[in-house]
Amino acid sequence: MDEDACKSASDWSGSLIAAVDADNEFPPDSCDQLRTLRVLEDAPDWAREHASLALADLAAVGSGPMADLRADTVARDFTVLSGVGQLNVLVARMLVPGSPWPGHRGMEAVVFRSRSSRTPNWFPEHETSHDVVTFADTVASSAALRNGHGHVIFPELLAVSEPLETQRFGIVLADHLAYLYRTHTLPVAAALGWLNPSDARDPGELRTIAFHAHEWGHRATDEGYAENVSRHRRRLLAVVSEVTADVAALQMLAASSHPLAPRVARALVFDRILRDAWLARWEAHVASIVGRVLLQFLIRSGALTELPEGLTLELAAAHGSLEPELAALHRTYRASNRGDDTAAIRYFAENGWTLDRSGISLSSAEPVLEQLQHRAREAQSA
Ligand SMILES: [Zn+2]
Repeated sequence: MDEDACKSASDWSGSLIAAVDADNEFPPDSCDQLRTLRVLEDAPDWAREHASLALADLAAVGSGPMADLRADTVARDFTVLSGVGQLNVLVARMLVPGSPWPGHRGMEAVVFRSRSSRTPNWFPEHETSHDVVTFADTVASSAALRNGHGHVIFPELLAVSEPLETQRFGIVLADHLAYLYRTHTLPVAAALGWLNPSDARDPGELRTIAFHAHEWGHRATDEGYAENVSRHRRRLLAVVSEVTADVAALQMLAASSHPLAPRVARALVFDRILRDAWLARWEAHVASIVGRVLLQFLIRSGALTELPEGLTLELAAAHGSLEPELAALHRTYRASNRGDDTAAIRYFAENGWTLDRSGISLSSAEPVLEQLQHRAREAQSA
C-alpha cells in the first residue's frame, strides 16, 4: 500500500471501530439502523471481500434486534489474507475471553495484518501438524479487544446459529498478547522478585514462542485436535485440554537443550499464573481456571514455595513431576474426549475443585493461592 492508500485504510478502519463501539454502547432498536452497517457498505476495495461477509450476516437479521444477529457467514467463510500489505477485517458478534464484559457477546471488529510466525524449528516434530493458527498484528480493534485480556479469535467464540464442527480459523493477536505480557505480567513477576534479567529481554518474542509451545502441547497430546472443537465446548474438557497442553509444553521445554527453552517455559508459566489466573470474574474464564490448576501443580511439585522472605518460583524443581503429571492428564484428557469424565472429576476433586451444573469452582482456597492473588492484584493496580 502506498502512503495515500495507507491513510485512507486507517481512516476507514477508524470509522469502523468508532461505529462498532457506538453500536455497543448505544444499540439501535434494529440491526438495519446499525452505524456499523453504513460503514461496511462504504468499505474500500481492500476491505470489500471481508466486509461482504459481515454484510451478509446483517442482511440475514434484517430489522431484528442486535441480540438476534448471528455471525454465521463470517464463522463459515472468513479466510485470512496474508499477501504483502494486505489487511484483514473481521466484524462479528462475539465473545471476547478476558474482556471487561465477560460472557457478553457484543459487536466486535478487528482490522489486522497477518504475521508470519512458524513453530520454532527446535521444537520436536509431530506426526500431525496443522497450521490453523494465524498470528496477527492489530491495526485497529473495538473496545473489548482493545481494553481486555482477550487475544484470540476463533469461530466458536462467534454468535452463530449452529456451532461449527471444525475450526475454520484461529487468530492470535500477537501484538496484544505481547503487550499484556509486558504490562500485566512482568510487573507482577518483578514485584514478587521473580524476574531474571533474561526474562525482560525480548519479552514479546518469548511470549509468542510460549504460545507456540502451548499449541505444540495440544498437538502432542491429541492428534485430532483441530477436529475436536465441538467436544471442547464442554467446559471440563476444555480445561483439561488446556492444562494438558501446558504441561506437555513444559515437559518438552524442560527436555530441550535449546538456550531459549527455560526462558520460554518461564514466560508460559508467568502469563498463566500471574495474569490469566486473576482475571475479573475468573470462574467464567477457562484460562483462569487453567492458571489456578497449573499453580496447584507448581505448589505440589515444590516449584512454588512459601519461604519467610516471600513466595519463590523455581521451575526446575517441578521437572521430575512433569512426566507423571502429564501421563495422568493425558489419560484424563483421552477419557474425557471419549465422553468419560470420571478421571477428570477425580483429578479436580483431589485438587479441591467442585464440579456441578453451574461449572467448575475451587472449594477450598489454598493460602499460597490467596497470597499470590493478593500480590498480583496489588501489583496490577499499582
Ligand atoms: Zn490451548
